[in-house]
Amino acid sequence: MNAPNAPAGLVGLVSATAAGRRARDRLAAAWPEATRVYDTGGEGGTAGTVREAVTRAFAECDRLVCFLATGATVRLIAPLLGGKADDPGVVCVDEAQRYAVALLGGHAGGANDLAHAVAEALPGCRPVVTTATDAAGVPGLDTLGLPVEGAVAAVSRAILDGEPVRLVRHSVLPLPALPPNVAEATDSATQSDGGPGGRGADDGYTLLVSDRAATPGDRTAVLRPPTLAVGVGASRGAPADEVAALVGQALADAGLSPLSVTELATVEAKAGEEGIVEAARRLGVPLRTYPAEELAVVPVPHPSDAPLAAVGTPSVAEAAALLACGEGAELVVPKRKSAPEGRAAMATCAVARRRHRGRLAVVGLGPGARDLLTPRARDELRRASVVVGLDQYVDQIRDLLRPGARVLESGLGAEEERARTAVAEARAGHAVALIGSGDAGVYAMASPALAEASADIDVVGVPGVTAALAAAALLGAPLGHDHVSISLSDLHTPWEVIERRVRAAAESDLVVTFYNPRSRGRDWQLPKALALLAEHRAPHTPAGVVRNASRPGERTTVTTLGELDPGTVDMMTVVTVGNTATRTVAGRMVTPRGYRWQESR
Ligand code: SAH
Repeated sequence: MNAPNAPAGLVGLVSATAAGRRARDRLAAAWPEATRVYDTGGEGGTAGTVREAVTRAFAECDRLVCFLATGATVRLIAPLLGGKADDPGVVCVDEAQRYAVALLGGHAGGANDLAHAVAEALPGCRPVVTTATDAAGVPGLDTLGLPVEGAVAAVSRAILDGEPVRLVRHSVLPLPALPPNVAEATDSATQSDGGPGGRGADDGYTLLVSDRAATPGDRTAVLRPPTLAVGVGASRGAPADEVAALVGQALADAGLSPLSVTELATVEAKAGEEGIVEAARRLGVPLRTYPAEELAVVPVPHPSDAPLAAVGTPSVAEAAALLACGEGAELVVPKRKSAPEGRAAMATCAVARRRHRGRLAVVGLGPGARDLLTPRARDELRRASVVVGLDQYVDQIRDLLRPGARVLESGLGAEEERARTAVAEARAGHAVALIGSGDAGVYAMASPALAEASADIDVVGVPGVTAALAAAALLGAPLGHDHVSISLSDLHTPWEVIERRVRAAAESDLVVTFYNPRSRGRDWQLPKALALLAEHRAPHTPAGVVRNASRPGERTTVTTLGELDPGTVDMMTVVTVGNTATRTVAGRMVTPRGYRWQESR
């Protein structure tokens, strides 16, 4: 079976040396169903020259991987080149397998993706991609996961060249960041229905995000947002032509693009109704069905008795369209009937539009080191068009943001304001990343943000390595049994509450990690907390002090509860105190998994 990153289509593999053949065999083994080996040289009876192999592979395959120098490959494929639309993508891999170079057909030929896939399949290999949109970190308009039509190449070019491009959004849709030359049009332009061609006032380039069916001019690319659902009802045996024509006409009359339709929806009883199934197929969307009870409770403008008697709900088309679009849906085409010539109508349809939801990603950046930032966090940062966070954390990841991402940074404090800003930006339809060090939910921004957030935005949490875990990994295995984190900051929590929790942890013999342990203005809390633990733990109980875990200036000290020097502790530090079973082994803190270990000693 093919490995999960196997490319689509057929990949021809050509090699000329022993090292090349080894790499080639590795790819062939990883993607057995997606590759064809073109033998060269002395192996096997059919083997020909490298030129013959490349020529055949070029004609027969969707893509090529040549285990040859780029120069040799260029000379071999030069006479074969036809055009951008038809040539296969070509990737070169060097003799030492250090680089997979996308040489030809980066986008259309799939060479960029193939270079990434090859690099993943060959250990130590890195992809080399030189096409403009990829290299600039600007998403190709065709890579945003939305149908796109119109002047895609011209507008992509303008975006890259830094020419002014108007962004006109009829749908609030969280788009990834675009460079600063792509600027949101003013409100009045956004409202105007007439100007999607972009040939109005300034005759410039336009990127339009719209489900309206206007035909764009030669300087406008249109992204089709997934906003519409079509509800359909049909009597038994309704012909597919009748259903499809009804849906097509309903969209056309309302000026809506079929590319923005995400599904056809109907009642469960009609799941197998041939005319409906076929209409969905022709539209290229899935058919989604709902139980009659669910449809029956959706308030609709045009309920009727016929479907109630037939399938048990007073509305199929309107109710299914609204249900498919979820909360906040708007009925844009009320129920209408088909109009076949010479007989009664057998189909109904309605169209609903979903309200688009902004996206708030609450992203933990980890303790500092880049390799402790999770790939998922990295993806969310790349996706964000607005980044909100403390300036020092923004600095930690600034290079990962897309060009044009709006950064709203602020200094220490102002947490609530930061949280409110992030939520407001998400409600305005943006893709927002609210960032915090460690885990963004641990003594950080997630709670104030989610306390503000309403149900009309999507919220995604990305966990990060919190300081207690980063420190524990440096100290040994201090968290091997039940443990607790306690913040010693009494800025927002009365000291009595903190003290009660420290006492409880002491009494219940929990391993304790202190966050915010000590600052210039708060120096008595840590000694006090340690004294409370010492009422229940011996002075030789192991304790660890970790400053700047995984950051420059990292310092780890394993000491004891009795000897811990608070003077070595500041706000860049966490302090972890073991339980009564914790031991120091070879200079490392070890908390056994169970207390039986202790008894058997
Ligand atoms: N959200 C953060 C914690 C914020 S509270 C997280 O999950 O890690 C701030 C406190 O965290 C600091 O005072 C310090 O006690 C601790 N801290 C954060 N990062 C640290 C690091 N890299 N090394 C040591 N302590 C750290």
